[in-house]
Amino acid sequence: MTKRIAIIGAGFAGLSAAAKCAQLGYETHVFEKHSTPGGRCRAFNHNGFLFDMGPSWYWMPEVFEEFFAEYGDKRADYYELERLNPSYRVFFNSHEFDVPANTNLLGQKLEEIEPGAANNLKQFLKEAEIKYETGMGEFVHKPSHSIFEFFQFKIVKALFQLHLFTPISKHIRKFFKHPEIIQLLEFPVLFLGAKPNKTPALYSLMNYADIELGTWYPKGGMVEIPLAMEKVAVKQGAQFHYNSDVKKIITQEGKVTGIQVGNENMKFDAVIAAGDYHHIESKLLNVENQSYSQSYWESRTMSPSSLLFYLAIDKEIPGLLHHNLFFDHSFDKHAEEIYDNPQWPSKPLFYACVPSKTDKRVAPEGKENIFLLVPVAPDMTSDENLREEYLKMLIERLEKRTGVAIQEHIIYKRSFAHEEFISEYNSFKGNAYGLANTLMQTAFLKPKLRSKKLENLFFAGQLTVPGPGVPPSIISGKLAANTIHQTYFSKRS
Ligand SMILES: Cc1cc2nc3c(=O)[nH]c(=O)nc-3n(C[C@H](O)[C@H](O)[C@H](O)COP(=O)(O)OP(=O)(O)OC[C@H]3O[C@@H](n4cnc5c(N)ncnc54)[C@H](O)[C@@H]3O)c2cc1C
Repeated sequence: MTKRIAIIGAGFAGLSAAAKCAQLGYETHVFEKHSTPGGRCRAFNHNGFLFDMGPSWYWMPEVFEEFFAEYGDKRADYYELERLNPSYRVFFNSHEFDVPANTNLLGQKLEEIEPGAANNLKQFLKEAEIKYETGMGEFVHKPSHSIFEFFQFKIVKALFQLHLFTPISKHIRKFFKHPEIIQLLEFPVLFLGAKPNKTPALYSLMNYADIELGTWYPKGGMVEIPLAMEKVAVKQGAQFHYNSDVKKIITQEGKVTGIQVGNENMKFDAVIAAGDYHHIESKLLNVENQSYSQSYWESRTMSPSSLLFYLAIDKEIPGLLHHNLFFDHSFDKHAEEIYDNPQWPSKPLFYACVPSKTDKRVAPEGKENIFLLVPVAPDMTSDENLREEYLKMLIERLEKRTGVAIQEHIIYKRSFAHEEFISEYNSFKGNAYGLANTLMQTAFLKPKLRSKKLENLFFAGQLTVPGPGVPPSIISGKLAANTIHQTYFSKRS
């Protein structure tokens, strides 16, 4: 009889796991508490404005192409991609810097800031390319059940070139001296959830992704990606059950026997939990079936949470690009207020995304769709007054730098922070993107894909391997599905 697999969550990891399980011939059912797929990458509409709720940077395009190709499909049949040029604008204290979608041009611009920087950029990117090829080619596809998976000659040889034990802050300073260039190159590390001095230089692979591979945009918004992935999974035979909050994983003698959705119990032969790992363990399983204790979770370094604002503006705002980074205050101070001495940041750096600059579909003619993001320490709270204070601060800075009035042109606003990350995604401490990518939380040192207690329970998503971000979450779902197939069901057939 066909084996039945339940997948909890229709974020990127759950969608990818669903497509792979269905392709492998399992009867696949996805249960999602929301009414649409995407998880953190859902969207909502308001009077002709379409707001992407989470991710906005489309990096590592080959990971997406590979997903569709794996099912005999083409990404282009689902959504159109555009490479942004300039990739993004950085607002430094006294001036702006546009990052061109061309490495030579970027080198020339950096040379004007620091003599020798063009050549140093070439060398830096050459090393980053090796890290990217190894990291994305070898490391990222390891299920990381054990350290022994990494004991292959090719990988051990490459380890020396990966600079796992050198912090990226030090690595970048080997090539560049000017603070603006350093800040520019440390920016992608913000995605990884730890300070540059705690992040291995391996992650200069993100600089390669940024500068060489480029920043892309799916026409219609980021939400087009999960909508397309859902179609692929359905074509493979997966069945989706929305508005279906999983309340319990039912177990018997070291095995999962089913799940409870609402008040209904359903039988399954295996489960892939692709929701927040901590939530699944602590809320859906009894203590004796949990692989990790509460003190384990408390000892983890979480990535930051975020204070987000979705704004509809009744006019166009010149002076902003699609992606804008406000690095007009101290990076060190903000990082300290996130990681060392967690508190609401005094003068935060922030990110403004204006997709209406590229895509007329996300805002009515002559109007602007703006998404603001302030990284904030996890495990904090905020009330309406505090959020309003921050919005005022950000708008003032936007007005100052663009020279146009914005405040009185806001015709819709919605905020989102820790409280919503918890209520919407069951997110541990309200984190936005999982565990920080420190050396001690990398690969086999992350929470495992496979439960240590229940032989047919598997995990996927940003809190397990390979880590946070859209491309890694897609890979994670596939890893979990292949692991079930190769290590669990194959032994039973
Ligand atoms: C604000 C923000 C900006 C980001 N920016 C970027 C970016 O620009 N580029 C990038 O690559 N990455 C970005 N990320 C990270 C990226 O979005 C995530 O790493 C990725 O989406 C995680 O996917 P996931 O499937 O692991 O988890 P999720 O997206 O959280 O999906 C899990 C799903 O499980 C569901 N669920 C949870 N519990 C249950 C339950 N009990 N029953 C049923 N369903 C349940 C949830 O509703 C959710 O739909 C960003 C994240 C945030 C929050």
